[in-house]
Amino acid sequence: MKQPFAKALYIIKQLKAHGHEAYFVGGAVRDFLLRRPIGDVDIATSALPEEVMRIFPKTIGVGVEHGTVMVLHEGTPYEVTTFRTEGKYEDYRRPESVTFVRSLHEDLKRRDFTMNAIAMNEHGQMIDPFAGQEAIKRKMIQTVGDAKARFSEDALRMMRALRFVSQLGFYLSEETKEAIQELAPLLSHISVERITVEFEKLLQGAYSQEALALLVETNLYKYMPGLSEKREQLEQLASYNWTLLTERAEYWGLFAYLLDVKQTLIPFLRLWKLPNQLIKDVQAILNILAEMKQNNDWTKEKLYRYGLTYALSAEKIRSLLSGEKADSNMAKLRQLFASLPIKERKELAINGNDLMKWFNKQGGPWVAEMLMFVESAVISGEIENNAEQIRGWLAQCNRKLEENY
Ligand code: ATP
Ligand code: MG
Repeated sequence: MKQPFAKALYIIKQLKAHGHEAYFVGGAVRDFLLRRPIGDVDIATSALPEEVMRIFPKTIGVGVEHGTVMVLHEGTPYEVTTFRTEGKYEDYRRPESVTFVRSLHEDLKRRDFTMNAIAMNEHGQMIDPFAGQEAIKRKMIQTVGDAKARFSEDALRMMRALRFVSQLGFYLSEETKEAIQELAPLLSHISVERITVEFEKLLQGAYSQEALALLVETNLYKYMPGLSEKREQLEQLASYNWTLLTERAEYWGLFAYLLDVKQTLIPFLRLWKLPNQLIKDVQAILNILAEMKQNNDWTKEKLYRYGLTYALSAEKIRSLLSGEKADSNMAKLRQLFASLPIKERKELAINGNDLMKWFNKQGGPWVAEMLMFVESAVISGEIENNAEQIRGWLAQCNRKLEENY
């Protein structure tokens, strides 16, 4: 058996040795069949959480009420989840309570799509009661059972369907697509956090253009944070090549930029409950983009002030928007950065204390201003980054100032 399943096989074997059933399930099995890189290996078992915890020495009860125990094996954590059905669904959301069952079939039946409802045993044989392998061959996303019923149980599944379109390049089955079109309003019952997780994966997928187009076509966008009035902008979004992007702040940056939320950037990003640091990063990148609209020549000074990371992200987005080659523009930027005499303030040969000593003056806003002034001179090459030179140069500047008054 191939990695990473080979390594996880031990867990299945242990569970079986204790008289339980155990299988690989979920995304790992799907991605294995698709020959895609395999993420987390999840295991489903007939053993109850307490039983799992008794068998393995290192476990964490991460979601025992949902049947999930994290088992640590040779440094890797595995989610081992008891076969379950999800109790009664209320308010179109995932239920709080689950019912443990002893049959694999029942467990596979509660899963969202047929491609995600395949189990693999310790010999690599597939247990596939809903023809998931066939769906994978045809690149079809099809709910397990009646699509409308399944989306009514948990409306997040509609978002998941589109994020799988984006990640896998699959198509929605006719039934699945029609059900989303009809039931899109149910998405408003789902917490923003869960929507954001799926949407971020959607933006990052290799087929995000297709998924973004579907978001509009199915009307799902109307029930997503801050998007209800953004149909036209969303249609635009689908025409850009998002696959050049790599950082979270870049995805959200391009997204916010194209949606044209300028004045309301922070409230808009807060609607999605994004972490503060990410919001700051997006804001920094969009500020650079806005400035580049006026003047897109990079100078050493600008690059130093923005910092390489933000500058590269902004340049990448700008190139993408203007259809230029991002790679060569970014390479130029890296070169320019390499030529900077100092890369950040702490590399400056002097600090605020030196200035206060030299001028025999108390600290105040003047210190920061003068440091900026010195930095600019060092960056432009007017003076060297050397304390004595800087001191001499400042004295000379002072004399000139006095002469002029
Ligand atoms: P990824 O590779 O992105 O992790 P995944 O298919 O493993 O994709 P997860 O969110 O990790 O997705 O979920 C693991 C499995 O749990 C899914 O493959 C699916 O069988 C089931 N599942 C997850 N969310 C739902 C849901 N909302 N409704 C029904 N089944 C779900
Ligand atoms: Mg997974």
